[in-house]
Amino acid sequence: MPPAGDLTFAIEAPPLTTVPVAGTDAVFPVARVFCVGRNYAEHAVEMGHDPEREPPFFFTKPADAVVPPGRLPFPTQTEELHHEIELVVALGDGGAEIPVDRALDHVFGYAVGLDMTRRDLQAVAKKAGRPWDMAKGFDQSAPMAPIRAVDDIGHPTQGAVRLRINGEPRQEGDLDQQIWKVPETISYLSTLVTLRAGDLIMTGTPKGVGPVEPGDRLEGHIDGVGDLEVSYG
Ligand code: MN
Repeated sequence: MPPAGDLTFAIEAPPLTTVPVAGTDAVFPVARVFCVGRNYAEHAVEMGHDPEREPPFFFTKPADAVVPPGRLPFPTQTEELHHEIELVVALGDGGAEIPVDRALDHVFGYAVGLDMTRRDLQAVAKKAGRPWDMAKGFDQSAPMAPIRAVDDIGHPTQGAVRLRINGEPRQEGDLDQQIWKVPETISYLSTLVTLRAGDLIMTGTPKGVGPVEPGDRLEGHIDGVGDLEVSYG
């Protein structure tokens, strides 16, 4: 294979998705986006599931679903856009079969993110036994605040996770309510795929998910990690 600098692209190469690293001039290059489903018991219950501790399950979004906060167009093909506020883990180092007690060594930092969901399309997919991709992995479905490096904030394990819409509280939880903690999630995911530097893991959402209307202003917050503001339409 020729060195990257010698490649002749047949079409213009797609841009790399990046997320700013807070307090630096550097950006974090996004490889892949993995998301944990039902990782807070009360959210599992509100979605009609048993809160028993089952093995975690994952879905993905394309890297370019990650976009900066700000004003976003209302997504197409949905009449039930839902917000899911989540802690995002940014991996600085990859690996397979990562032991739980070494998993945090692979973390570069953390961010506040939104796993935006076309709940109506997801309901159809669930009922028909079809994939969730178009419900979860659509364009701009992962608005994300700048990443805070571990050197800056350490590894947050407790603290409020909340979302307000137009100033009204919608979601309220605590990082310590996660069913699968960050080290366990990384370790388990690394048995399914070989993780890579640049991978992001969205770690699930607390209770209180609900609809977003055009014109709404979403304010997300995670103690010790940061804030994010997104508005639609
Ligand atoms: Mn989610």
